[in-house]
Amino acid sequence: MTARATGGALLLVEDDDSIGRLVKQYLEQQDGWRVVWRRTGEDALSELRGQPVRVVVLDIGLPGIDGFEVCRRIRAGSKVPIVMLTARDEEPDRVAGLEIGADDYVSKPFSPRELSARIKAILRRAESRAEDAVLAAREVVLRRDSHEVTVAGEQVELTSKEFDLLACFLEHPGIVLSRERLLDLVWGMTYPGGTRTVDVHVAQLRRKLGDPEGIRTVRGAGYKLVPA
Ligand code: CA
Repeated sequence: MTARATGGALLLVEDDDSIGRLVKQYLEQQDGWRVVWRRTGEDALSELRGQPVRVVVLDIGLPGIDGFEVCRRIRAGSKVPIVMLTARDEEPDRVAGLEIGADDYVSKPFSPRELSARIKAILRRAESRAEDAVLAAREVVLRRDSHEVTVAGEQVELTSKEFDLLACFLEHPGIVLSRERLLDLVWGMTYPGGTRTVDVHVAQLRRKLGDPEGIRTVRGAGYKLVPA
């Protein structure tokens, strides 16, 4: 898959000149992206309104509104993949970013090659997710095209990560998925402290689906969807 073939720009939001230059040059020359580089969240949001953007690389520390707020505002109207750049190797920043809808993060300092690999991985996931339009098990039906979930015909409101997590369980009925595997499949990363994010989302799904037995905890192993 090349970025060039499918169109749409990569929007880079970074106020640091040397990082911005390095990332822009690498992604343009190595991966063929058309990189639109903006230094503030406000400018980035107006770019998003003005042209098709295929992926956003978003720094957290920005002048004006910060990266978290930019992410929230993007998610209010768009599912474009977002990779956040975290200044420190701190879990709270990562979890906060992922909770508000970022798809992945890269901790500074990072190599452009590492960032490039993360971008390719999230685009692969986004594209493979487009495949089965309808998934179902028990009384749950999930429709990817309309982004709807119903339980026994009643619509249920899920956040975007809850939706992706449910889709992941429905794609693997009866199979035990470890927390690490779920993190990788749904959030696109593996880090030791992050698995509680999975537990929080599973608890929310059980509550919203009104079916505590549907997603079973397998002690010491992870979770599995009980198909019927
Ligand atoms: Ca910054």
